[in-house]
Amino acid sequence: MSSHLDQTLAPLLAERRAAHLYRTRKTLQSPQQPEVMVDGKKYLAFCSNDYLGLANHPDVIAALQTAASYYGVGSGASHLVAGHSSEHHALEEELAAFTGRERALLFSTGYMANMGAITALVGQGDAIFEDRLNHASLLDAGLLSGARFQRFLHNDLSNLQNRLDKTAAARKLIVVDGVFSMDGDTAPLPELAAVAQKNAAWLMVDDAHGFGCLGKTGAGTCEHFGLTQNEVPILMGTLGKAAGSFGAFIAGSETLVESLIQFARPYIYTTAMPPAVAAATRASLRLIQTEHWRREQLNKLIAHFRAGAQALNLQLMESASPIQPVVIGDEASALLISQKLAERGILIIAIRPPTVAAGSSRLRITFSAQHSIVQVDQLLAALADILQEMPREVAHD
Ligand SMILES: *Cc1c(COP(=O)(O)O)cnc(C)c1O
Repeated sequence: MSSHLDQTLAPLLAERRAAHLYRTRKTLQSPQQPEVMVDGKKYLAFCSNDYLGLANHPDVIAALQTAASYYGVGSGASHLVAGHSSEHHALEEELAAFTGRERALLFSTGYMANMGAITALVGQGDAIFEDRLNHASLLDAGLLSGARFQRFLHNDLSNLQNRLDKTAAARKLIVVDGVFSMDGDTAPLPELAAVAQKNAAWLMVDDAHGFGCLGKTGAGTCEHFGLTQNEVPILMGTLGKAAGSFGAFIAGSETLVESLIQFARPYIYTTAMPPAVAAATRASLRLIQTEHWRREQLNKLIAHFRAGAQALNLQLMESASPIQPVVIGDEASALLISQKLAERGILIIAIRPPTVAAGSSRLRITFSAQHSIVQVDQLLAALADILQEMPREVAHD
């Protein structure tokens, strides 16, 4: 007889499956690259966040191997105990220089960086304002912080201002994604910085998808808009996406970083990332800064895809980033198209609620500098084929 635990959980799983919301994992049997092996089958994949194609780069691999032969694998302790190695330290200094901030602080993941920074900066009696399309880690952190938590309409400055007008909180924190992870569009950062300044609020930008991709040198959304530490005092970036490695950082003033070292619990109470991972990230940071062709190639692929998708009447979003979602609508159709693509050897994940709003299920198509124009044409041809087979309301609404 199954346990009380299983008897409680099983109906919830059944419910999720019936709603076409059940999530399953695929098993990758190759490196992360455009042509992957998944569950024994080869696919052309458009679903990784390895935007610059660095996750499997020989320089990055070599840096990891060399550092592992010197430092070993595990860091063995948290940063504040004895786990902070010279590779971590050098990476922090390089990240600060690259983003034009006084200091940077490494975290083991982006989820933890957001959790750590937000809960260290605001609490009971304070107020936090988040774009309603912010990443789950930012929303979770806002809720956990104990500050009065409000979500404002997506990229809507007057909605934000109305909410700011009604608060008497001493500390006011505004938090947005630089590039929104499921839509690919960009936050209006210069205007947000002005609103923050006018209202004596602090602005935090999660640049998980801008770092490496946007800006002249790849330093991200702040560089794209020319915003300094004064305008965006709390900058978060992740290292598992365009940097092709693992981990995350918060960059800002000396005082901010020292405060996080003292008060950010997900920084303090966790094992430091392996030093070799930091060394690998340093190698990818050099590639981000020197190989501008990667961003140029990405932009070519994006433009080519958008032109082709528009010719097919696909519903694109206002995105200049490597995230190019195609909105399908209902969950079942999004899943069906994703399955039909898989039958044709193309891997794209259908993103469904609760990750996106009900009725806005989508194919989250992402590009990497390793993709070719020919591969984008293969994707467009497959989409054209599949949509022709689908009922009209799905294909054109
Ligand atoms: C991926 C992501 C994170 C989490 O970063 P991890 O390093 O994967 O934990 C945070 N914010 C945004 C916007 C993301 O896309």
